[in-house]
Amino acid sequence: MGEPHWMGKDSKLMLLGGIMINVDGEKNDMFAPQTFKVIDKAAYKAGANAGEKGKDLMSYFDKTPSGPRIKAPKQVRTINLKADWKAKMTAAQGESVTKHFPTALPGSHVEQMVFTALADKNFTQENTVYTESSCPDELNHDSNDDISNQMANRWGEVFPLGGLAGIPFTGKTGWGAFSHHVPDNGNILALYAPHVGITKDGVVGKIHRPKMSKKTTACGASIGAYNALGGAPKKAYEKEMTSGLRRLEGAEKTEGPKHDHQIEYIIEQLRPQMGSIQLGDDFNEVMANLAYETYHVVKAYMDDIVDTKWMSYSDKADALYVDSKVACLGGIMINMDGASSDLFIPLNFGYIAKDGTMVNLMEDTFGAKAVEFSAKKQARSNMVMWIIIIIVIVIVIVVVIVVLKMKMIPSKVAGAEVIPLQDQPKPSEAKSERGEDNSARQLAPNVDADGVEKPKEEKA
Ligand SMILES: [Zn+2]
Repeated sequence: MGEPHWMGKDSKLMLLGGIMINVDGEKNDMFAPQTFKVIDKAAYKAGANAGEKGKDLMSYFDKTPSGPRIKAPKQVRTINLKADWKAKMTAAQGESVTKHFPTALPGSHVEQMVFTALADKNFTQENTVYTESSCPDELNHDSNDDISNQMANRWGEVFPLGGLAGIPFTGKTGWGAFSHHVPDNGNILALYAPHVGITKDGVVGKIHRPKMSKKTTACGASIGAYNALGGAPKKAYEKEMTSGLRRLEGAEKTEGPKHDHQIEYIIEQLRPQMGSIQLGDDFNEVMANLAYETYHVVKAYMDDIVDTKWMSYSDKADALYVDSKVACLGGIMINMDGASSDLFIPLNFGYIAKDGTMVNLMEDTFGAKAVEFSAKKQARSNMVMWIIIIIVIVIVIVVVIVVLKMKMIPSKVAGAEVIPLQDQPKPSEAKSERGEDNSARQLAPNVDADGVEKPKEEKA
């Protein structure tokens, strides 16, 4: 195996492995390092398992760390919601946002609006725990203005549920574990969102990352799956990343573990949506459609794992969690090139009470336009599903009619009476008036009893 595609001439990979130790009380958590090494190009070239090579740096930890060990204070800025945030976008970016994500706002604005709405429903920093299902892409967590960092600062901690494309791959077990960490009579706030980039030139689905001269895709997993499904010719690195598709198609039969099940799931979920994604007029619209379809995949997964069972799994829990609630905020994170902070388009916001009552907070928090746009996006997805269902039903009806007609034709042509199936003679009993066995000819006029096709001259 050669070096990975991302490695430049002097690139290196640092590997730090160990165990995180969660400490009760005011002390910081600890970390027990088990491996620490640097791997350069030469180490990769040296063998198949580069992780085994590399230069060992464990002696670094022989020094005793010093300095204060106190938790960093949480910082939540108050945002001026009337500030002209649009001025920080380029004209092309503004155009793309208005056209494809018209009700998007800066992530920090959305965070503050959500906090205000939830504070009104008795969600406090003390009684609420926060979980998030977003793509691990560093773009979503690289600035204080990012909604994910603001949320974590606000609520104090984050339990990440998400994997590639923002899908909550930690699943029911992840939710089950997290939901047993809620303070007495407390609440959960869950944020779920895929993400999409917009360059300074207004290109949707791409972004310039810090210190990189070339554009890269965002979300790479979502777009990689789309390309693997034939959306666009695959580039070399995409071929490597989406080897999941080759395996799904049965083309890759290499032995051993593949460790790529997240991308395989994304490919399977996006496969039936390819038609509606590609309905876009241009590249930007197709990429925006992909972001919305990815949102529907994330939401469906989330809807399946979120529950309120933790409020009443035992008599003790039932008595502890009397007024508890689960609030959910769903949308799309929009990573912006240049001076603009990242945006967030809210598509679903509300809470579920202990008795199962669902309260929608979209209109009160984000206004009627956001509700209208979100409903349009949801309706479109449903419409495509209904069109597919109707097409399938029509095909089934046509096939049934054709089959029935084919069964009726021979008796009608002969003008004969239709004999019920159970009264018809078995093939072995089917004799012609001359006493010949006609069963083979009845089955297929040009085939003999052994199933061998006869030449036409012989028949004549
Ligand atoms: Zn991503």
